[in-house]
Amino acid sequence: MFAELTILGNNSAAPTKTRNQSGQHFKLDQDQLLFDCGEGTQKRLITNRINYQKISYILISHLHGDHFLGLMGLLNTMALNGRRSKLTIVAPKGLKRFYDVYLETSAAHQTFDIDIIELEDESTGTVETPRLHITHIPVSHRVSCFAYIVQQVVTKRHINVESCNEHNVPNHAFAALQDGHDYIDKSGNRINNEVLTDPASKPITYGYITDTIYRPDLAEAFAHCHTVYHEATYLHNLIDRAIKTKHSTAEQAGLFAQKASVNQLLIGHFSSRYHNTDDHLKESQAQFPETLIAEEGETYRIY
Ligand SMILES: [Zn+2]
Ligand SMILES: [Zn+2]
Repeated sequence: MFAELTILGNNSAAPTKTRNQSGQHFKLDQDQLLFDCGEGTQKRLITNRINYQKISYILISHLHGDHFLGLMGLLNTMALNGRRSKLTIVAPKGLKRFYDVYLETSAAHQTFDIDIIELEDESTGTVETPRLHITHIPVSHRVSCFAYIVQQVVTKRHINVESCNEHNVPNHAFAALQDGHDYIDKSGNRINNEVLTDPASKPITYGYITDTIYRPDLAEAFAHCHTVYHEATYLHNLIDRAIKTKHSTAEQAGLFAQKASVNQLLIGHFSSRYHNTDDHLKESQAQFPETLIAEEGETYRIY
């Protein structure tokens, strides 16, 4: 089992001829999420043949235009096409006010419920859904900004078929075994769950970190992630600018992944001044070889 992450935009600030502003689509089994929603995101969802009506959570890092100005357009299209299912949006404080003004001024016709969870500055916490835990961690940018960790909730243990056969455990007992219960046979003998099952799989975990100065102190919080996306707005020779504008360099993204010891690093949020991202890749790979450019239109597997 794996999650699929499709990159809808990897540029910072403003779109270029070839690159779009921030947006990522995450799909794991029945759950679909969107990370950020820069202008043009809904068009990219359509181009990538993603059914946006199935997105149930939208996680907004912060309220700079390149991360959320596509949101009202997407909500409008969802309603136009008759969406009925509830949508939850997690975002820093302020989004609700923006959305209320949009509703009031455009007299938008809403066909579905929207639950906006606003995050207070400096609050760390977890939104629990039936199959996913969504953790938000404040980072350091020019406005209130959050990184997210999405972690699969895995509770089912794996049936050890060989051992079950050996102990004559019938198939109808498997569901209870997967939930961790012991098996009691017809004669009343208890067989411990650990004898009949193997531990549940490692949960699929993805970390999304954008628009922040380098925060190596957060590496530990992301250490359990298989894949981390880290912004890499600048190259190292513009580190002063990165610090001033509260962004990171490609080298720092690589150092973060090395420190967190994740399996895979995706980098993006490139400044429009760069026409290609070869140097970003080289710079990050020098610190963390398993770096990939988060290429728009590409889908990455996360285990
Ligand atoms: Zn940005
Ligand atoms: Zn920003």
